[in-house]
Amino acid sequence: MEIKKIAAAKTMRRLMAEHFYELDRAVKEGWPKVAWCTSVGPAELLRAMGFLVYFPENHGAMLGATRVATETIPAANAIGYSPEVCSYMTSDIGAFLQGRTPLSDAYEGIETIPKPDVLVYNTNQCREVQDWMAWYGQHWDRPVIGVECYRGVGEVTDVHVAGIAGQIEALVEPLEEISGKKLDIDRLREAVRLSRQCSDLWKEVLETAAAKPSPLTFFDSTIHMAPAVVMRGTQTAIDYYGELLAELKGRIAEGVAAVEGERFRLYWEGMPIWGRLRDLATLFLELRTCVVASTYANSWIFTALNPDDPFRSMARAYTELFIVRSDPYKEKYIQEMIELFGVDGIVFHDAKTCPTNTNSRHGMAQRLQEQLGVPSITIAGDLNDLRCYSDEQARTQIEAFIEQLAGRG
Ligand code: SF4
Repeated sequence: MEIKKIAAAKTMRRLMAEHFYELDRAVKEGWPKVAWCTSVGPAELLRAMGFLVYFPENHGAMLGATRVATETIPAANAIGYSPEVCSYMTSDIGAFLQGRTPLSDAYEGIETIPKPDVLVYNTNQCREVQDWMAWYGQHWDRPVIGVECYRGVGEVTDVHVAGIAGQIEALVEPLEEISGKKLDIDRLREAVRLSRQCSDLWKEVLETAAAKPSPLTFFDSTIHMAPAVVMRGTQTAIDYYGELLAELKGRIAEGVAAVEGERFRLYWEGMPIWGRLRDLATLFLELRTCVVASTYANSWIFTALNPDDPFRSMARAYTELFIVRSDPYKEKYIQEMIELFGVDGIVFHDAKTCPTNTNSRHGMAQRLQEQLGVPSITIAGDLNDLRCYSDEQARTQIEAFIEQLAGRG
């Protein structure tokens, strides 16, 4: 069985190439200035201030997907970064130390990752992103600034929002000094408006998977989320998701399934296993099982963004994120996803080097099974470090799980 290709992927590949060539040109010509930003950092503010924005986690995912990561992680381990900490970070720093980047293989003429003028983080994912930025900041002697978020948030209150909004506003002055320009609030409103529109379209794209059969798999979404990560706040991302959405709606209208003869529908909880996306997509295809939705791809939905209230709405959007929420909130969220997408079971990925985005370690799977009657499996693995993942073990577990679902009638 062949994985069904999404035609819009061709457009996406062109847009990603343009994104990286634009950054490369900016560094070579010294203008516009380049800001590094963590994947759910305040990208809208950076765009409004005229920076081109580069996302190191996207580069980390490229290192994982190309399976280069396994060769580069040891170089970071050798300078004191534990094999237990984020393998996006260790593979990225290791690749830099080895003078390698998948960008050079994919895009002729690009020799290295773009050197930043400033590095901006938001610890809403984890503390690692701050350490990661700090390493490069020190290496190139560039300023590292950012936002420290709340964790374990139940209800997002005005106190949370005020605290984060204040921190985002405090970034303006140092960014003005670096960019040499004053912030134009209308440009910020515009960036927030574009980002919100991108987020709404991305949400619609993901929700097409509620159709039965689903026109989209989790594995497709890990590829097609790239513009939502690296181009949110631009018209380009909006145009792209308009094209992708039209294609998926066309599939629904014609009854085209991403997984032919779809028997079961699963939810993926946790990080992707980047170096095994194709293998896993093929395995589920053979089992006629569609992984229809995931917390991961949903993480770039920011419904709170509001151009009329840019700072506070950014603060709210970045605090409403699943990853910083309490377990009761997360369980309620997953329950809603199970209902929305008609899910038969959950695959938890216990990512060795990403405890922050692993939710199977404190009894959540068992609680959900008890409350909702939805069975699950937990696969041990990692986002980038394939030494933590066993193909055989994962295959055996997944096949047994599907048999179990079949046995439930
Ligand atoms: S959330 Fe996990 S994968 Fe992402 S940067 Fe943090 S530790 Fe790494």
